[in-house]
Amino acid sequence: MSASPVKPTAQADAPPTAKPHVTEREARQVAEAAREQGWRKPSFAKELFLGRFRLDLIHPHPLPPSEDARRGEEFLARLRDFCETKIDAARIEREARIPDEVINGLKELGALGMKIDTKYGGLGLTQVYYNKALALVGSANPALGALLSAHQSIGVPQPLKIFGTQEQKDEFLPRCARTDISAFLLTEPDVGSDPARLATSAVPDGDDYILDGVKLWTTNGVVADLLVVMARVPKSEGHKGGITAFVVETASEGVTVEHRNAFMGLRGLENGVTRLHQVRVPAANRIGPEGAGLKISLTTLNTGRLSLPAMCVGAGKWCLKIAREWSGVREQWGRPVALHEAVGSKISFIAATTFALEAVLDLSSQMADENRNDIRIEAALAKLYGSEMAWLMADELVQIRGGRGFETAESLAARGERAVPAEQMLRDLRINRIFEGSTEIMHLLIAREAVDAHLTVAGDLIDPDKSLSDKARAGANAGVFYARWLPKLVTGAGQLPNSYSEFKHEVDLSPHLRYVERSARKLARSTFYAMSRWQGRMETKQGFLGRIVDIGAELFAMSAACVRAELLRTQGSNGREAYQLADVFCRQARVRVEELFGRLWNNTDDVDRVVVKGVLTGTYTWLEEGVVDLSGEGPWIADATPGPTTQENVHRPIR
Ligand SMILES: Cc1cc2nc3c(=O)[nH]c(=O)nc-3n(C[C@H](O)[C@H](O)[C@H](O)COP(=O)(O)OP(=O)(O)OC[C@H]3O[C@@H](n4cnc5c(N)ncnc54)[C@H](O)[C@@H]3O)c2cc1C
Repeated sequence: MSASPVKPTAQADAPPTAKPHVTEREARQVAEAAREQGWRKPSFAKELFLGRFRLDLIHPHPLPPSEDARRGEEFLARLRDFCETKIDAARIEREARIPDEVINGLKELGALGMKIDTKYGGLGLTQVYYNKALALVGSANPALGALLSAHQSIGVPQPLKIFGTQEQKDEFLPRCARTDISAFLLTEPDVGSDPARLATSAVPDGDDYILDGVKLWTTNGVVADLLVVMARVPKSEGHKGGITAFVVETASEGVTVEHRNAFMGLRGLENGVTRLHQVRVPAANRIGPEGAGLKISLTTLNTGRLSLPAMCVGAGKWCLKIAREWSGVREQWGRPVALHEAVGSKISFIAATTFALEAVLDLSSQMADENRNDIRIEAALAKLYGSEMAWLMADELVQIRGGRGFETAESLAARGERAVPAEQMLRDLRINRIFEGSTEIMHLLIAREAVDAHLTVAGDLIDPDKSLSDKARAGANAGVFYARWLPKLVTGAGQLPNSYSEFKHEVDLSPHLRYVERSARKLARSTFYAMSRWQGRMETKQGFLGRIVDIGAELFAMSAACVRAELLRTQGSNGREAYQLADVFCRQARVRVEELFGRLWNNTDDVDRVVVKGVLTGTYTWLEEGVVDLSGEGPWIADATPGPTTQENVHRPIR
């Protein structure tokens, strides 16, 4: 079933390039079509956005079966030993490359197949233990974490697990479990957050497809053996067409890795530009039906998105360790810097936030393993919140370290100090706010789910394409829904002084849960009010929607932190301290939530829009005077015209 090459012929050289012109409306339609529409299982976060605090969906905290935990812990112990003895993180940073022997060592450990079923030669770990493993490897070197995660969370194994045929699983999963590294190729020079512009084509030819296009920023692409490629099949007789996912052998004729990219962080990343020129791929390698590509990648990300916050949890733990060790010994102005309030508050923020991030991650992962709840919003919130908070924690660590925070580990070591790579941590974490759905896109994606109930009942009312009779029907439906729903937003358990009393111990977390309950209703009321005020323009109110989502993320994190603290208390493991951390986290989160609620209506969104217009029309160019810009005159976006390569192939499979 492997992809067999087609010999490039003269006339086959450059297929016509037509850069698709995509309007905002079309882009939204493509995103909407890729959305999973149904809600077959309950969702804690969806309910939260509707003003219903369903603590029963997450409490008592779900737990893994003991056999899963035993196997997971056993693997973690071996992985930890490997990380401590076989990974030279300084060398990876210095050489901007992960040594082949490290990757081969991980292959031998079975780390390529952590999430692959044992019947295909994988380790069959649960989501919980897969994430713990990523946090561990990522703490040794984040580029290694990214390699394993890109291979397993978005590369070939995960979409095949959900959508693959039995033949595809039999052929590819054993390879992915042990030897073959995979990559996921969606992005193109002209396609970032907007897949509607996707230009790589897959033209049917008998039992095959012929792929042409250029893919950018392919994590693992430089060393990958297998690729998931997203390409557009043209509509034709017998072909529904649309964006479609294919498994492609990197060794196929016509696949060229033209460049290895370098970044501000993740220096060990094997990330490239891959050109596909007349690459023949058998139809048997198509994942799912034609046109299902984006849905497949979004569904894959439902749980795949948890790997990124997993590495953010690892980052938080590491920041906490360094902050503790350093700020206790570094004395300035007569005392350890930790005891100066301005530094202490940063340490408290790192400790409390790390506790909450781990709570969010473990809860979401355990729910994913149980498969009882729909966790797509929780995973998206975990990605958004984890990447933003980890960045803040690393930034605070750099500050706590003072000048040493800005100095490289290599330089520190060269002058005889401990080689703490705090600045590297900051650089390595930065990309998490951009890839696998940037923060701005995550805001839109989660907001879309948050307002879904409203759009379902009242969407036709604000859709300009709907007829008057459709609108009348929608009006009647909406009337029934809101007559039942709105009164429920007025009162709730959050107003009763004794509710959630099982969380009242030496430290009392029940006021925080009452706050979450009240705030969820306030959040829903605010969303409803905004929907009625802005109606069809609501989707353009990104500032407002972003704040709604950020409040939801804080409320979810508060809930997870309290539930985790109670779990640890009942297990007798650091319960008192966990309660303390959950309490401090909730207090910090409540300050942020109050600010966000305030900014829903008191903000600079309108005047910002005026300034943006001025910036784009050149009104303020005088402000740019007095500096030089040495960026040069090159194009903003590289040419991605399909055709034969003119570059050397830098593909470097690791054996
Ligand atoms: C190190 C690295 C590894 C990567 N790995 C992979 C990989 O393995 N596979 C892969 O396919 N891709 C990969 N990517 C691509 C990554 O997913 C994209 O960078 C990301 O999707 C954003 O696209 P973009 O960079 O083109 O930004 P753009 O889409 O050009 O966006 C620019 C800015 O505008 C914002 N923006 C865009 N649209 C909207 C909107 N509608 N509303 C509000 N704001 C908006 C964005 O958030 C961003 O701030 C990687 C990128 C990097 C840098």
